[in-house]
Formats: sequence, structure tokens, C-alpha cells
Amino acid sequence: MSDRARLELGEPYPPPPLSWEIETAPREQLEKIQDLGLKRLIQRAWDHIPFYRERWEAQGIHPNDIQGRGDLGKLPVVCKRDLEESLLRHPPFGNYQGDFPAVRIQASSGSTGQPKPFFHTLRDWQVIANFSARRLHAQGVQRGDVLQVVLAYSLFIVGFTSTEGAMKLGALVVPTGSGAVTPSERQLKIAHDWGTTVLVGTPSYVLHLADVAERMGLDTRKDFRLRLTIHTSEPLTEPARRAIEERWGVQAYDNFGSVETGAPTFECREKNGYHINEDGYIFEVLDPENYEPVAAGQDGVLVVTSLFKEAAPVIRYSLEDISAFLEGPCPCGRSTRRLAKVKGRVSEMVKIRGVAFYPTMVETVLERLPELMREYFVILDRIGQQDKVTVQVECRLDGAARASIKETLERELKATTGLSIAAELLAPGELARSLKIEERIKAKRIWDRRGENDV
Ligand SMILES: [Zn+2]
Repeated sequence: MSDRARLELGEPYPPPPLSWEIETAPREQLEKIQDLGLKRLIQRAWDHIPFYRERWEAQGIHPNDIQGRGDLGKLPVVCKRDLEESLLRHPPFGNYQGDFPAVRIQASSGSTGQPKPFFHTLRDWQVIANFSARRLHAQGVQRGDVLQVVLAYSLFIVGFTSTEGAMKLGALVVPTGSGAVTPSERQLKIAHDWGTTVLVGTPSYVLHLADVAERMGLDTRKDFRLRLTIHTSEPLTEPARRAIEERWGVQAYDNFGSVETGAPTFECREKNGYHINEDGYIFEVLDPENYEPVAAGQDGVLVVTSLFKEAAPVIRYSLEDISAFLEGPCPCGRSTRRLAKVKGRVSEMVKIRGVAFYPTMVETVLERLPELMREYFVILDRIGQQDKVTVQVECRLDGAARASIKETLERELKATTGLSIAAELLAPGELARSLKIEERIKAKRIWDRRGENDV
């Protein structure tokens, strides 16, 4: 049977190099695969997952109503709090897992409370590993690479999926885990002695490792064999990318995913947005207020459906991230659609004096000011009836240069956000220490204490 025929029959989700045929397939073929995958998913969920069946029945929806992508809008959008409610009513796992032969739980990091468990069948796990392999392959990982994973191995999924994806490509994986398990000095000694060529970690930790390497008297560009860094679980901003590439002498790539979805997207070598593994996932970009589709290319909340997943699939699940579809073909040759960088989370969006503000706006400003360091923190206070915004950033400068950069930062923040923001410059390392950079999984950038300390 030809590869094409296997795809037509729904032969599922191959790893590279076979996946190239899907990744470059004509749009109408991809859409056919999605229509078929969606119909199967809806029937599976109806038969096996009370969480979805109850919701759909309550709205008078039957699987026959869903014949393809065009009918997706008939299904209700599911939010994180719907899953949290399911967990409360049906402890300990909720009623969204389904009665499938699950072999593994991974869970959300629980940044807003209890971790949310997601079951995986063996097949689910293998498909996600294939998607992870596509991601690493697109970013240049190959047989012979020594790939060190400096992400947490825990209920957090991506340390494991990076490991398995890399193994499928024939790379040699060094699973040192996060800095909390393998201290940074030891991570660096291993990377140096064992000839690590690819580092997989959060941008902030990979930058922190560069700081530690310098303190150890190592030359990050000469004393290591590193050629790629691969990032996830925390947005790779352009300034962070440039800093990582420059300091380590590597190509740095970003990815976007979550435990609910597996490995849905990746940057290709063009670094111009995240390609979606569209045989496995349907993404929608919707208006966060009414869940109607936004106009082409406009920002909205990302809503995802995982077509392949047996246990705990997500069906029209709001990721609560703000992004957009990128228009036009990618020079890499893939025909899969691309998502723009995430601009922020719906929950991180704070209204300050009536203006929508995302902490990532601060990063856009820091990009233009190389005198300042990369970590930052935003504090919101209410003084009387007025909102006060303070941005903390680290700075190496002293004296007049320091005063001048503070002024520039405040001016640039105002120009970018439309808000008057006070800058507070801290000594190098001070902010990293207070944010516990070695231990955290996701960077928290904002503390909204309005209402906590009204004065
Ligand atoms: Zn591309």
C-alpha cells in the first residue's frame, strides 16, 4: 500500500520521515483527514466519555450532527473550570477520561490550584511521541545528537515526550531533569563532559545555565558542543531567543503545547510561527467573549480538539491563550497551518485603567533595551482609585547611566502599552532569586495585588 493510500485510510500519525507526506499534503487532503478524525472522535466520546455525552445531550446534539469541521461550532466550548468541576463531582479523576485501557497519567502543573489529570492509552502515548519526533526533526535533531533534557520529569508531560521523540530519531538522550533534581553546575559538567549537542529546556533555565557556566569559568561558545536549544512550556520571546543564540552559539527553537494536548505544534527552521500537526489536532481562534470565529488573521482565544486521542481527549477545549492564525504558505514547504506566538493568557490579560495589558508587552520593550536583563516582574497596586503599575527589571549599570536607562524604559513602556508604568531597577540576580528560577516550571510574571492592600 502506498503512503498516500494509507493516509487516505486514516493510517495514523506517523513519525518522520514518513510524516513529511502529511506535513506537505494538499489542504483538501488534510481537511479530509480532519473530517474523518473528527467524526470518529465524536462517536468515541459519545460511547465512552460521560463528560462529553452529558453536555451534548443537554444541548440536543447527537454524533450524527457532526459530519466534519464545518459542524464543530455546534459543540459547546469546554473550559478549564468545566474540567475542575468534573473533578469535584467525580473524584479523583473526573468523568472526562473515558473507559479506555489507560496506562499513564500526566497532569497540568496546577498553577491555579489542583493538578488536572489526563489519562493516556498506550496508543495515545505513542502518537504523542511521534508528534514530538516531528517537532524535534523539524528543528534539526538527528541520529548522533546527544540531547540533554533539563525539563522536570514529573506529572509535567514534556520532559517525557521530548525524550521519547528524540529516541525515535536515534538521538542519545541524557535525561538530567530540572535544576531541582540535577543542580546547574552538574548539568553543565555533564553537558561539557558528555558532549551534549542539543539542550531541551525552558528559555529562562537555559539562560540561567549560561550565567552559571560563566561563573564556573567556562566559555559557553567554545567549551561545549551545543548546536541547538529547544524550548517549551514558557514562551520563547525574541529577545530571549537572541540572547540564547548569541550566548550559547546555537539555533534556538520554540514550541507550543500543553499536557491536555500532547505535542500539537512546533516551529520549523524558518522560526515564523508554530506549525500545527493537523492530522492530529484542529485549532480554532475564537472571540474570547462569545466563542465566535474571529476574522482571518485576528487575535482570539485558542480552542483545540485532539482528534487522535482515545483517553481524555479535548474537544473544543479553550486553552485560554491569545494567538492568531498566520496567513500564507511557509517557505519550509509544509502545508500545515501556523499559529502566531501567544500574546498572553486570557487570565493574564488585566484591565488597567480600562486598557487591556499582557505581561508579554514588557518583553517587547526589553527587546529594544539590551542594557537591561531579561527577567522581569509586573506588580499591580491600587492607590486610592488609581491603578499603579510597577515593572521590576535587573540592570548592571550604575550612576547616571542607570538613571537614564530607567527613564528610557518608562518612556518605552508608555509608548507600547499606553499606560504610565514605574520602572524599578534591581541588581543582577536579585529578581531571579526571588522568582526561584531553578525550581519553577512556568514563569509567573505578574502579581495583581489590587484590592489586597487598598490604601
Ligand atoms: Zn515552516
